[in-house]
Amino acid sequence: MKNYSSFKQTFAALNNAETTCLAIVENYLSTISEKNAEINAFVEVFAEEALEKAKIIDQKISDGTAGQLAGMVIGVKDNICIKNHKLTASSKILDGFESLFNATVIEKLLAEDVIIIGRLNCDEFAMGSANENSVYGSVKNPHNLSKVPGGSSGGSAAAVASNFCLAALGSDTGGSIRQPAAFCGVVGLKPTYSRVSRYGLIAYSSSFDQIGPITNNVEDTSLILEVIAGKDKMDSTSSSKEVENYSLFNSETKSKKIAVVTECLENEKLDSEIRFSIEETIEKLKKNGHTVEMVSFPFLDQLVPTYYVLTTAEASSNLARFDGVHYGYRSKETSNLEETYTKSRTEGFGKEVQRRIMLGTFVLSAGYHEAYFTKAQQIRRVIQDATNEILKDFDFILTPTTPHTAFELGQKHKDPTVMYLEDIFTVQANLSGHPAISLPLFKHSNGMPFALQLLAKNFEEQKLLSFSNYLMEL
Ligand code: GLN
Repeated sequence: MKNYSSFKQTFAALNNAETTCLAIVENYLSTISEKNAEINAFVEVFAEEALEKAKIIDQKISDGTAGQLAGMVIGVKDNICIKNHKLTASSKILDGFESLFNATVIEKLLAEDVIIIGRLNCDEFAMGSANENSVYGSVKNPHNLSKVPGGSSGGSAAAVASNFCLAALGSDTGGSIRQPAAFCGVVGLKPTYSRVSRYGLIAYSSSFDQIGPITNNVEDTSLILEVIAGKDKMDSTSSSKEVENYSLFNSETKSKKIAVVTECLENEKLDSEIRFSIEETIEKLKKNGHTVEMVSFPFLDQLVPTYYVLTTAEASSNLARFDGVHYGYRSKETSNLEETYTKSRTEGFGKEVQRRIMLGTFVLSAGYHEAYFTKAQQIRRVIQDATNEILKDFDFILTPTTPHTAFELGQKHKDPTVMYLEDIFTVQANLSGHPAISLPLFKHSNGMPFALQLLAKNFEEQKLLSFSNYLMEL
C-alpha cells in the first residue's frame, strides 16, 4: 500500500475513497511489526483498539460527521496520560500503573478523530538527550542503527521517521522535542510555555515543560497545534490567548528580520559542516529579501548550568509523589513505611533520575538555596530579558538545533556533564518560554540529517510556522 507522509495526502486519499482508515492503520501496524523490534520506538501498540477506531472513523467519514483530523494516526510519548492505558514514563517506578483519565491534549485530539496507535519510548521521566535512560532499553536512530535517536522524545521522533505513524506527541523541557526531531530528520515544535495544557503530562519541571508535535512537515505540526492549543481549566498556567489558524500560512512572503547568534555559529563545538550549511541558508535568505544580522547573546555558557539547577530543583519536588505507596512499583523487601519509601525509590528510579533528584534536593537545601536556586532564577530572568531584547528588533532567532549530528549509542553515557552539553542550543527557549521549531533541512556527509532552529516571540506560532513552511521549500 502507498505510504502517506502528510495529513493533506491522507485526507485527500480518504476523500477520494482511494483508501480507508482501516487500510491505513493496517499498513502502519505491518510496518511496526516488521521494524519496531529493531528500532524500539513503541513500547506498546494498541493494535486492536486502533483497528476498531479506524472502522468507526471510516463510518463517520462516509456519514460526513468526521472530525478535523480524521484519519491521522499518531503515537504518544509514554509520559502523557491515555485513559485505561499503561503509563510509565519509561520508569520501573510506574510499573503496572494505568491512567484513569486522558490528558487534555489527548481529549482534544480524540475529539477530532485522531487514531492513537501506541505508547512511545522515551528517557525516564523525560530526562536525557539520547533515549538511553529507559527501562525499555535504547531507541535506535532509523537513519543509522548504531546511533542514538536523541532524547528524551526519542521514540516519538524515531517512530515518525520510520513511518510507524503519521505524527507523534512529545514533551520538551530543554529540547526533548527539537533535538530528537533534528537527529531523526523530522519537524519538531516546542510551543510557547502555556500555549498547550500540561494537564495529564507527567511533570518533570513544571515551569519548563510543554507538549508539542513531531511530524514529517510543518503543515502537520500546525494542524496538531491548532487542535491541542488553548486555555484549559485543568491547567491554571495555560494561556487564554486566542488560538490562531496556525495552518493558514499567510505571512511568509513579507521580508523578515532574522538574528543569528554569533556565539552559536562561531562555537568551537559546532560541527563545521553544520556551520557551513547554516551560512548557506543565511545567504539564501538574504538573496530572497530577508534581513539577516549577527547578534551577540553573551549568556550561552550560562544556559546549561541554569537549566540544570532549576529543572533538577523542580524535578526533586515533582518526583516526591512516586513513593512506592501511591503509584506503581513497591519494593517487596520492606518492613516499615520509611523503608517502603526508601527501597521503592532506590529500586524504582534509574541512575540519572536519582542523580537529578539528589542534585535538585541539594540546590534547594537550606544552606545552598541562595547560592544555587535563587541565583539560577535570577539568571533565568537575565536570559529571558536578553532574549526579548533581541526579539524587539527581529522576528526570529536562528541557530543550529544541535552542535553535531546523532552520536553513537553508548558514547556519551558515561559522563553526565558531556550529555548535558548536548542541550546547549535548545534550552534557551525553555528558560525564556519562547516557541521554537527544529527544521530538518540538511543532510551531513556522514549520512545523518541535521536541522536549524527558529525561535520566535511569545505566542507568535502563526508567524513561526508560516515562515518555517516557506523555509522548508526555499
Ligand atoms: N536533554 C534535556 C534533559 O535531559 C532535555 C529533556 C527534556 O526536554 N525533557 O533534561
